[in-house]
Amino acid sequence: MSPEKKTHEFKTEVKQLLKLIVNSLYSNQEIFLRELISNASDAIDKLRFKTQTEPELAGDDSTFKIKITPDGIGQTIEIADNGIGMTHDEVVENIGTIAQSGTAAFLEAVEQARHEDTLTPELIGQFGVGFYSAFIVAEKVVLVTRAAGEQTATRWESHGDGTYTIEPAEKEDRGTTITLHLQKKEKDDADFTDPWTIRRIVKLHSDFVSYPIVMDVEKDEPLPEEQQIKDKDGKAIGETTRKVIEEETLNSMKAVWARPKEEITDQEHEEFFKHLSHEWNPPLERLHMKFEGTTEYTALLYVPSKAPFDLFHPDRKHGIHLYCKRVFIMEDCKELMPDYLGFIKGVVDAPDLNLNVSREILQHDSLVRNIRRNLVKKIFTLLKEMEDEKFETFWEEFGPAFKIGVHTDFENQKKIADLIRYKTSKSDGKWVSLKEYVDRMKEGQEEIYYLTGDNLETLLNSPYLEQLRVKDYEVLLMTDPVDEWVVQALTEYDGKKLKSAEKGDLDLDKVDEEKKDTFTPLFDFIRTQLQDQIKEVRPSTRLKDSVACLSGDDRDMSAYMEKILKASGQKVPDVKRILELNMDHPVMAGMRSLFETDAGNPDLKMYSTLLLDLAVISEGGKVENPARLSKQMGEMMAKVMG
Ligand code: ADP
Repeated sequence: MSPEKKTHEFKTEVKQLLKLIVNSLYSNQEIFLRELISNASDAIDKLRFKTQTEPELAGDDSTFKIKITPDGIGQTIEIADNGIGMTHDEVVENIGTIAQSGTAAFLEAVEQARHEDTLTPELIGQFGVGFYSAFIVAEKVVLVTRAAGEQTATRWESHGDGTYTIEPAEKEDRGTTITLHLQKKEKDDADFTDPWTIRRIVKLHSDFVSYPIVMDVEKDEPLPEEQQIKDKDGKAIGETTRKVIEEETLNSMKAVWARPKEEITDQEHEEFFKHLSHEWNPPLERLHMKFEGTTEYTALLYVPSKAPFDLFHPDRKHGIHLYCKRVFIMEDCKELMPDYLGFIKGVVDAPDLNLNVSREILQHDSLVRNIRRNLVKKIFTLLKEMEDEKFETFWEEFGPAFKIGVHTDFENQKKIADLIRYKTSKSDGKWVSLKEYVDRMKEGQEEIYYLTGDNLETLLNSPYLEQLRVKDYEVLLMTDPVDEWVVQALTEYDGKKLKSAEKGDLDLDKVDEEKKDTFTPLFDFIRTQLQDQIKEVRPSTRLKDSVACLSGDDRDMSAYMEKILKASGQKVPDVKRILELNMDHPVMAGMRSLFETDAGNPDLKMYSTLLLDLAVISEGGKVENPARLSKQMGEMMAKVMG
């Protein structure tokens, strides 16, 4: 081993992922080529983008291509590109770790699926395995790469078994070469060194890649006349052809978006989408548009069918690639799509754009703004007209990201609100639009009621719904953290105010003032007992069967919001809540008579803290002192049982 050769351990999650890929993608072997070609094409894209400002980076090698070299004897296949390459540090950073956030969540989901025997390639495809897919077919992978503008190269090598090595290397030119030492073939396996196999795979999965994917092939070429051996009649008696090596381009490079709509098959769309998005599942919906008029451009957009695991990660790539007359300008063009639609993938080709446009210019470009506005409009139309079942899939996957738009895209707030769906206290697990909700509001109901929390089950059993149920009013059940922001931005719909079921006065029935007076001394007593925890004790208009709940004033933070902020490590101002008690509950009547006959009874103190604990538990919260609660309950049970 050379002194500079260093052996490294794969990160745990990479090891897990590698095992997973190799075990589960066996029947999907050939996709490794698509993944490596996509990476190569991305690397060329990146270099091309950089050369706009640093033209010297391309040097005298600006004929971009991806070359595949199979070797049937050595049983290797090599994929080489003259893209941006990687420095030593970039190799360490990119290969051997997994940059994607949400890896842990992903691996957990996989583990569970494996347990339940429901592991499918789709699930893995959600993650995009990229480079590591090489190990589906290879027993050893060698990557040699030289970054544009650098002189030294780096060699990375691994058997995919837990470690890899990195060392300095020589490489004549810029770019990355990946050599796969193929595993021994089983009987029915494809031969990936067979030129026909390679032609077929490239045509199927990577035909539209915008750089030539080439392979050296042996061809018969006629021998020049003067080199042919002839008999005395002038007839050739020996070989009339000779073998030559010729570089063949395997892909048509036809830009999918530039072709007539009717000509593109579903299969082609699927492959193009996978290439663009590094996802494996077919898209849910597509939108292919040519705009003609003052601004001319083509857009081909896809709505994926599965949300990525890192849907909310701030560093997540945006999905729009920008082209100008079929020439790639940049990936992740955030300027073309608002953040909340960042999951949409696709291509925009705008011939009027300046080829050397930079991100800074794009931000202020009126053409770009125009395109963006148009795209968003079209996406709304697409979503609005989507058939129900499809829309539901969309909503399940992307609803949480999409509805953030209510908060950030004021111009389209109404359209977004029209598309929003919630499950409700009466919908039996089905999604309901705000319009449907309003259409079936009960007579006398003035407001749209909602309740936020972290799961449907707790919300459905929440005491806050008790009186609303008596009235037969429907309540929107909001279980996404972002809903807290949605209701801040969307204060009303169709002229009806949104009203939290846990805050403020529900105004359902007036409090019985006479009855309230009989409870006032007891409520004062309870408030004094709990004054460090609560700000007030009130008769409840929300409760029917439960004895206690916590509420807030209209402007107070909801319990769920407090939980979210605390979970994200933010300091939350200590706002005391209101303890609401149900005057019609037998416990309150009993407590009142005990208080009236024996105000000094020590049990009253215990009952007060118990009431608060019960209120906390019923909203799914954590009681301050679980051990105390448990002890008190035990004592009470013993007492009851004598
Ligand atoms: P992804 O392509 O989804 O980011 P990969 O595991 O396929 O994930 O690749 C990880 C990273 O390694 C890429 O993001 C890229 O930075 C780098 N990389 C992979 N292949 C190449 C290549 N041929 N040339 C340059 N960089 C590459």
